[in-house]
Amino acid sequence: MKHITLRYVSGLDFNEELDELYSEYSNYGYKSILFHIYSGVLDEELVLSVSRKLSERFSTDQVIGTISAGEIRNGRLMDRGVLISAMLFESADVTVHRFPAASGRESDIGKDICNIADSTPYCKALELLLPGTNLHTKALFEKISNCRRDIQVFGGYAGGHSMESSEHFVFDMNGLYSDMIFLVTYAGEDFHISVDKSVGWQTLGVPFKVTKADENRLITVDNRPAVELYEKYMQIEADENFAEETFEFPLMAELDGEELLRHTITVEPDGTLLLAGYVTEGMNIYLCYGAPADIVKKVDNRLEEISQFRPEAILLYSCSVRKSFWEDFVNIEMMPFQQAAPTAGFHTWGEVNRDKNNGNVLEYNITLMSIAMREGEPKPGEKLRLHVDDSVLKGQASLIKRLTKLVYATTTELHKAYKDLSVMNDKLQDMADHDGLTGLCNRRRTEQLVTECFESIKHNGGKAGLLMLDIDHFKKVNDTYGHEVGDKTLIATADVMNRSLEGIEGAFAGRWGGEEFIILLPSFDADEAFAFADKLRKDISLTDLGEAGRITVSLGSISFDSKSDIKTVYRKLDDALYAAKDSGRNSVIKA
Ligand code: GH3
Ligand code: MG
Ligand code: MG
Repeated sequence: MKHITLRYVSGLDFNEELDELYSEYSNYGYKSILFHIYSGVLDEELVLSVSRKLSERFSTDQVIGTISAGEIRNGRLMDRGVLISAMLFESADVTVHRFPAASGRESDIGKDICNIADSTPYCKALELLLPGTNLHTKALFEKISNCRRDIQVFGGYAGGHSMESSEHFVFDMNGLYSDMIFLVTYAGEDFHISVDKSVGWQTLGVPFKVTKADENRLITVDNRPAVELYEKYMQIEADENFAEETFEFPLMAELDGEELLRHTITVEPDGTLLLAGYVTEGMNIYLCYGAPADIVKKVDNRLEEISQFRPEAILLYSCSVRKSFWEDFVNIEMMPFQQAAPTAGFHTWGEVNRDKNNGNVLEYNITLMSIAMREGEPKPGEKLRLHVDDSVLKGQASLIKRLTKLVYATTTELHKAYKDLSVMNDKLQDMADHDGLTGLCNRRRTEQLVTECFESIKHNGGKAGLLMLDIDHFKKVNDTYGHEVGDKTLIATADVMNRSLEGIEGAFAGRWGGEEFIILLPSFDADEAFAFADKLRKDISLTDLGEAGRITVSLGSISFDSKSDIKTVYRKLDDALYAAKDSGRNSVIKA
């Protein structure tokens, strides 16, 4: 395959370059051609005329374009004009599909795309060019994620240069669209593609919980308006410069182990953040920062892979935030790719990629996506040694480097402290819920669990059995053998109770106080509860508890349902237990 890029500057003639391209295409017998057009200006007449020229001259409808926040040609940001990328394929089947995407149809379109992918022989990759943020891409991507696992997915969202850009359009020779999805299928037995993204931003501080969100709108975090994250921790006020000031500190959302960066587009009056990508309730999010050294390291890792892959063409789809982040140095992370193969691409308003681990197609921000293609086996040659030349950052970046190191080190410590604290909290909670001697739930927790069972039965119906157990003449055990043996007897009794409850879902025993216990038996009716209690009584009376020998217990048993009153249940149970004592102990009375 061959990758040729052209630049069209309005008013200038580019017929000569087109002629050259045309003769290359027709003389060498290429099987198919694909044009990408990236335009930094939203000029309908201009982009349509370029698209039509290509379409007519090459008699093809394989022309797709997007409005972009920066055009990437030969590994550099192009300073002026419209960028045209022409990919010429020798044997691959590369096909453009168009989906008018009126909102609400995303799920159906996703299914169609999935079917196309699965029914295309040797389909290796899908490319999506998407207009702006009014699409429900979550629904679209969920369906596309069902396609064959070895199919790679990449793409980008359209959008212009300005932060508040409303220029989210894709286009072709037939028009400019805010509601059209372009799909390209890349297929062929001999076609090879390697897609990956490089990020490099690091998390800062402890996680926050998304408590209210609606697609791209982050409404509350830890039940506070989302904007407070930036006001409180970054001293960034919700004014007209908000988006520009926050792009260096995007949010990172965790989804099924994937780290999704999200930058902010605007802040709404109620403190809601409009993000360039969706978030969901219950997610953990972090504030992040970009440190040049870490970012360079990630790109270098990817360059190593690209060196091995030996591509013939590369597309670079890089987030517009990276362009704003690097400012004058943006080319340093793109130029090395050009050494591997001719590059073209654009700065996006969001990147599309498929997670290699779980196959989910997701929307990303702040990534540099590199898409490397090749037909046939890699051409032999010297090993490429590609890496980012960051020498221009030395000196001036040393302060930033030290500060980011400090932030990184303190953040790591903070994360560890946070983790230790939550382990400690769990331990404290455990101690607060359990009785130190027997390990059973204590009175407070027992009451809580029984009340929860009551409430659940009130709402959902059903029934449960409840037992109250008291050791007979326990004072005598203490008096005869001492308090320590008394303690051991209590522990041994608790063990018998626990064993009797094994396998009964939701059942538990709690220490009510002294030598008195409660047992909850979900779904048991009165007869079942009584039978269980009587068997337990027998078991205890037959168990040798060590130094104190054998003991006996008395129990009251009852069953309750949605009509029962909790106080009455406890009172009746208490009465039943005392009746059992009165009847001579070592017995059960049904309330
Ligand atoms: P009854 O059959 O009427 O229940 O007689 P009882 O002796 O079991 O009842 P009583 O309420 O008179 O005595 C309960 C005893 O349990 C008194 C108390 O010292 C003892 N006790 C309560 N908690 C503990 C404990 O944690 N360890 C020990 N060793 N004894 C305890
Ligand atoms: Mg007793
Ligand atoms: Mg007692």
